[in-house]
Amino acid sequence: MPEIRRDPISGEWISLSGDRQTRPLTVSGHLLACPFCPGPTTEVGLHAFQTAVFDNRFPAFDRPGASEIVVYSPDHWADLSTLSRDHLGAVWSAWHHRTQALGGRPDVAQVFIFENRGTKVGASIAHPHGQIYGYPFVPPRMQREGETWPDPCPLCRDDSPKLVERTLLATPDWRLVAPWAARMPFQLTLYPRAHHSDITTVDYQSGRDAMGILQVVYALYDRWFGHKTALVMALYQAPSHLFGRERYHLRFDCLPIERGPEKIKYLAGSELAMGAFVGDMLPEQVAASLRPLMQTAKGEL
Ligand SMILES: [Zn+2]
Ligand SMILES: [Zn+2]
Repeated sequence: MPEIRRDPISGEWISLSGDRQTRPLTVSGHLLACPFCPGPTTEVGLHAFQTAVFDNRFPAFDRPGASEIVVYSPDHWADLSTLSRDHLGAVWSAWHHRTQALGGRPDVAQVFIFENRGTKVGASIAHPHGQIYGYPFVPPRMQREGETWPDPCPLCRDDSPKLVERTLLATPDWRLVAPWAARMPFQLTLYPRAHHSDITTVDYQSGRDAMGILQVVYALYDRWFGHKTALVMALYQAPSHLFGRERYHLRFDCLPIERGPEKIKYLAGSELAMGAFVGDMLPEQVAASLRPLMQTAKGEL
């Protein structure tokens, strides 16, 4: 079982487990060993499902807190980017429901929905799935964001610098941009144009549209890098019980770890040791290079 320790030097909370090293590995795609494929002895059993949610057997957080797995599809070879529109709705509803359920628990301070896509970012099981952490504390990044955001919030401002150059897609409900100060070279941010603090106030139709845009982003990356891109997809929502939580504006960040074909952006001295990111590309240049591929990426869906 995980132990939550507070670093007396930095004040940060860290989850440490002595037994997570024994987690199963099915990255090579051995179907017989896949715990997320339907089967009599797997995590999902033999019940028919579109999208399944269950407790992570190797939790990073467990009472206080939560660790859950969201298996997107029974199909071992599917990917978030290949799901039908109807199926995307099922994933959205699962996220929505879990945000509500976990966010309502007094021992969960922050609901975090994310996907580690690909072995290079640590996905230990090849079957398409994402995760949900219910942190028993507010992670430092979220704490900081809440303290520094002005009113109106940075995502509600239409005068943010070079917004037009950085925008890749704008629908009536959503905007997809290369963020002004990207941490990772090809980072893209998707956010609702209306101020929502978490996904529970976004309606089903609009949520499904957002997932359709995430599919375009995945297809865009796969086209640009020429292979299934290793990335972290992170859904930032307001901490569950924090005073002033309505200041937060929800967003999805897509964080590929590559900076070019076969080139990895390593987290090195400045990033790992100081938490200060140093980049080699301007987000407006990234948006300009990805823009011509947008139509093709949209067409592939
Ligand atoms: Zn599988
Ligand atoms: Zn806002």
